[in-house]
Amino acid sequence: MYPTVDPLAPSGISRRSFFRFAAGASALASLPIVTEAHLAYADRPKFADPNKGIHIDANENPMGPSEGARQAIVNIVPRGGRYLFNGEAELVEIFAKQEGLSVESIAPFAGSSEPLHYTVLAFTSKDRPLVVADPGYEAPMWAAKVSGAQILKVPLADPKGEAKHDVRAMLAAASNAGVIYICNPNNPTGTCTPRSDIEYVVANAPKDAVVLIDEAYIHLCDAPRSLDFVKEGKNVIVLRTFSKLYGMAGIRMGFAVGRPDLLAKITAFGGMNALPVTAVAAAKASLLDADLVPTRKKIVADTRVETIAWLKSQGFATTPSESNCFMLDVRKPGKEVQAALAAKDMYVGRIWPAWPNSLRITVGTPDEMAAFRKDFTAVMGSNTAGLAPPELPRRLQRTPFTHLS
Ligand code: PLP
Repeated sequence: MYPTVDPLAPSGISRRSFFRFAAGASALASLPIVTEAHLAYADRPKFADPNKGIHIDANENPMGPSEGARQAIVNIVPRGGRYLFNGEAELVEIFAKQEGLSVESIAPFAGSSEPLHYTVLAFTSKDRPLVVADPGYEAPMWAAKVSGAQILKVPLADPKGEAKHDVRAMLAAASNAGVIYICNPNNPTGTCTPRSDIEYVVANAPKDAVVLIDEAYIHLCDAPRSLDFVKEGKNVIVLRTFSKLYGMAGIRMGFAVGRPDLLAKITAFGGMNALPVTAVAAAKASLLDADLVPTRKKIVADTRVETIAWLKSQGFATTPSESNCFMLDVRKPGKEVQAALAAKDMYVGRIWPAWPNSLRITVGTPDEMAAFRKDFTAVMGSNTAGLAPPELPRRLQRTPFTHLS
């Protein structure tokens, strides 16, 4: 029903620009574990000095690690000559206690890209396709290039204006799916898929398929969490990361949460090595800071709401994001706008082939978003006459965020 897709196809990431950054990846078997950083850097119209300009193109958190996390790193450094394995165990225990999970159902990794990649390797194959939403996060598709699995991209559904995963179509796409990937909130749209839909996909997934629920951005929204599926023993793996709300993308820490037998299959590919003591210490401090999630969630939401309201006032539609990124319909080829902004050292993007007139914008600091508004006005002109009609479905143009205001 849905065509097999090649994430390297010309309409997607340019092969040349990707491999400029994924150096050494000369054969499929050696494709790297693809992260948001690879994807964002590969799509930049020009080389961008990370110390220059404004970078709202990789869904990073400009706030960085919390004060407590920074102090924990400083404090652990003198002990950095030791392996300190107990730190990892303590981190897992803290998370297990907070979430009511068994420690056996939690596997810590240096970020969530690794377990994402390994889950696709472990549960997809030539005979077990990967099913993803479109537009959606591309990393699992890159992993499927390694496993040789068919990739089935299913357009997002939006009957209620929510740009949610079309779970029924995703289930119908392949009766032999190996992995069904649900990113909640979704990257790049920032939209959430209702709990009832996630329950439906978990209840109706093909036998032995794993529902991979990527909660990289879950702390930024109020959507119900999915860890309870793991507690119920379902064929579900949930991914969590410290890269987003916790601001630790460069420090690296994340979890795969799943039944121990499922985790054993993914850790067979890697991830059993000791983790940096600095990252473990920072993650522990972050989890123990009860104010961090609500405080940062509100900061990001306020900036996002303000930016989206301004864009709307200028005649531009966005997806109703609940996360730190949204899709902005620029009503002409997104590539052109991305390049014009990059010429001003304002880095946004990327573009998904399904919505060529839209760009993903990451929510930066209020100052960064003020600079974005200024550059966007300069690039787009002050009125929308002559632009294409919006490509985002009309129902996405409602005023979102009612529950946050
Ligand atoms: N999943 C999604 C949807 C992401 O957007 C990202 C990063 O942007 C990741 C997973 C992986 O991030 P990390 O490896 O930094 O935890």
